[in-house]
Amino acid sequence: MDTQITIIHTRTKKQKPDPDSLGFGRIFTDHMFIMDYDEELGGWHDPRIIPYQPITLDPSCMTFHYGQTVFEGLKAYRTKEGRILLFRPEKNFERMNKSNDRLCIPSIDESFMLEALKTLVEVDRDWVPDAEGTSLYIRPFIISTETYLGVSPSKHYRFMIILSPVGAYYKDGINPVRIGVEKEFVRSVKGGTGMAKTGGNYSASLKAQEVAEALGCSQVLWLDGIEKKYIEEVGSMNVFFKINGEIVTPELNGSILDGVTRNSIIQLLKHWDIPVIERRVSMEELIQAHHDGKLEEAFGTGTAAVVSPVGELLWEDNVLEINGGQIGEISQKLYDTLTGIQTGKVEDPFNWVS
Ligand code: PMP
Repeated sequence: MDTQITIIHTRTKKQKPDPDSLGFGRIFTDHMFIMDYDEELGGWHDPRIIPYQPITLDPSCMTFHYGQTVFEGLKAYRTKEGRILLFRPEKNFERMNKSNDRLCIPSIDESFMLEALKTLVEVDRDWVPDAEGTSLYIRPFIISTETYLGVSPSKHYRFMIILSPVGAYYKDGINPVRIGVEKEFVRSVKGGTGMAKTGGNYSASLKAQEVAEALGCSQVLWLDGIEKKYIEEVGSMNVFFKINGEIVTPELNGSILDGVTRNSIIQLLKHWDIPVIERRVSMEELIQAHHDGKLEEAFGTGTAAVVSPVGELLWEDNVLEINGGQIGEISQKLYDTLTGIQTGKVEDPFNWVS
């Protein structure tokens, strides 16, 4: 494939947003990256950075109909000294290729994508905000662009990266949330697409999220799709529990997304000699542990919030309060350390940022 990235700079730079008004995912930078796929043209080709703009697609493009699409999400952070840091970006392209494989999308060259991403972030470096807790959210994604209504893998694709400055997830420090355990709807099943980052998983999750919000919960705790017994994830985060002094997290089983934050937290805990076990965790076990006063902490992990403590679990008509609804010691320590590494404030023994 040709690896020469053409760059066309915008002539009309947009006004930067007020850092206090940054929310999530509504403001986009001046440029975007595009590359197209066509086997007859040598596979992935024509990598380019151009001014951010709408794209035109034929209504029969396959992506609109059967959801053959994948995406990723990661962040760039500005350090106190003004350096721009990316957190383990190679893991995202590695995961994207796993999603590609599951969705029959041709693989991408991971090291070239990393170079393309760094080039794009450099072009738009003035957009990386510097206020406490803010960052530049990075959204690489692939859509199927063949104009055809048959159900089959597309012959043409478009890969894009767009960038969005985002505000602090927690404005007043990390905050425990109430989570609803979902008994009717499931996010994915073993053999389905849960381990892939593909749009269908997220559209399938909306109904349950709507129900949970009506019950005053901020997220859904997903159970496995077959027995509805074992815990899988929380909203779009992985989940950890501290039960009787031991940290446990559901093992990757094909329907759970292999989170970069989850992986980093497991490594951090091991580095601190804190035992962490990946295994099946049932709802029944959690209820028993709570009853025995041994459910000490619960927290979600993901790029957006990094660590999100769970203060309450809503299960049928019962509310299980965890750690008195307060932030647990481990949750706080993990949050401080990971965000510290991401923003260059804490030493990075793993070489995760570059
Ligand atoms: N699970 C799901 C379903 C997600 O969408 C995400 C966010 N990517 C995660 C877990 C957490 O993954 P990461 O730590 O890589 O953001």
